[in-house]
Amino acid sequence: MSTVTQPSVPENLKSFLSAPKKLLIGGQWVDAKSGKTFDVYDPATDQVVAQAAEGDAADVELAVAAARKAFDSGAWSKMTASQRSRIIWKIGDLIEDNADELAAMETIDNGKPIGVAKAADVALAADMFRYMAGWATKIEGNTIPLNVPYVPGGQFHAYTLKEPVGVVGQIIPWNFPLLMAAWKLGPALATGCTIVLKPAEQTPLSAIRLGELCHEAGLPDGVVNIITGFGETAGAAIAAHDDVDKVAFTGSTEVGKIIIKAAAGNLKKVTLELGGKSPNVIYDDADIETAIAGAADAIFFNQGQVCSAGSRLFVQSGIYDEVVAGVSEIASNMKVGSGFDASTQMGPLVSREQFDRVSGYLKAGLDAGAEASAGGAAIDQPGYFVQPTVLKNASPEMSVVQEEIFGPVVAAMPFTSDTEIACQANDTTYGLAAGIWTRDISKAHKLARQVKAGTVWVNCYSIFDAALPFGGYKQSGWGREMGHAALENYLQTKSVCVSL
Ligand code: NAP
Ligand code: MG
Repeated sequence: MSTVTQPSVPENLKSFLSAPKKLLIGGQWVDAKSGKTFDVYDPATDQVVAQAAEGDAADVELAVAAARKAFDSGAWSKMTASQRSRIIWKIGDLIEDNADELAAMETIDNGKPIGVAKAADVALAADMFRYMAGWATKIEGNTIPLNVPYVPGGQFHAYTLKEPVGVVGQIIPWNFPLLMAAWKLGPALATGCTIVLKPAEQTPLSAIRLGELCHEAGLPDGVVNIITGFGETAGAAIAAHDDVDKVAFTGSTEVGKIIIKAAAGNLKKVTLELGGKSPNVIYDDADIETAIAGAADAIFFNQGQVCSAGSRLFVQSGIYDEVVAGVSEIASNMKVGSGFDASTQMGPLVSREQFDRVSGYLKAGLDAGAEASAGGAAIDQPGYFVQPTVLKNASPEMSVVQEEIFGPVVAAMPFTSDTEIACQANDTTYGLAAGIWTRDISKAHKLARQVKAGTVWVNCYSIFDAALPFGGYKQSGWGREMGHAALENYLQTKSVCVSL
């Protein structure tokens, strides 16, 4: 049975929470021009814990101007690559030095268990800056031999330059607040771009602290500007701004489509990391115990608020009952509570809105005939807690199978043959990730090729690394985050041709 415990906020976080939280524009911390602020909630208690400045279009205007000035001055893009690399590396070091504080900030803002915040969010964020620091000195063009048919005997020296795309708008979600900021800022900084970053309204805290750390690391004024505020105002102004050269967005597919339309005005470049409904496939020849634990982790990690969560569990029919029982047992025994309690395995959902959304899906799934073999309801307690839930007897047309719930809810379905499973796995508009569990390596590689997904995990799930590209097929997005691939989003290629 799930139980809920009350949180206690670490002392070191209290002073940060009570200090005014402002916008970072051109190296200065300033109030929103409107003077407005908005409340920041602790999802474990449903209490307001801080206020953040509510930036809107007027503040975005100033932030874009500051980013443009910093870009055009060359203070960042024309700094030597090795100097840039050192500053980016230093940001990673400072994240690590402040790991406890940042982890506590993620817990109070997002709800996630503090141990997870430190081991995953904070550690991966530090790693991302260090990985991208390495690339700053390795951005190279090519020399290209020419054979121009209409200039017989012509001799040319042709080469390409890789140049930063310019001023970049970055809009991020609330599920991994610091890490999403790192995924976005890392490659943009490595390539010499300047940035206006908007964190999600639910989780503005760690981005503000990261802004402070960027300056402590020696980042010139105006290179990173941070506008806290709402999507419909601040976010929309960034996406539509004529002096923003590129927008990078992570969030819902619905808002991704709005971003594309807004970007059309000046044809700014767009990359999108959107939703998912990822299949997790367990064959009957898998190491069943490992697969059961992996399937539970694939959906319950981060309260299920993971774009690549394994939310459709396909189990070969002979082991279906055993696997469903195993995942359900893990779910039923999970300790749900405050992220500040060291024994907590699952925290609250991020917001009242998300709580209502997930509760709505639970009701819809049960009404449609799915059966909860674990969980199935919200937890009657202050804070946005829901039970880790396993739905069996789910069928393909149900909303819980088709739509992204973004909560700790997995729909389990049996499959019989190898040919059938590829179709079932791909029966969604999304294509972000997939999991495959089998001891037959050939079977694993075959299905990995058939699945339309940007990431395929075999005998593991949710393995992320700064070096490994991540992004979506189909309606899960455009472009890739992380790895060498992420740099391309922030570079453009200039061909230079010289007659000798
Ligand atoms: P969302 O609305 O897509 O939010 C993502 C970011 O976009 C936030 O910073 C948001 O700002 C901003 N935004 C919202 N409307 C905008 C607009 N018109 N123009 C520019 N920016 C805008 O996601 P959500 O409402 O937080 O969550 C809804 C669902 O999205 C979730 O249930 C889940 O299914 C999905 N989601 C996916 C991911 C992912 O990693 N792929 C992450 C989060 C959510 P505000 O937060 O300030 O409104
Ligand atoms: Mg929103």
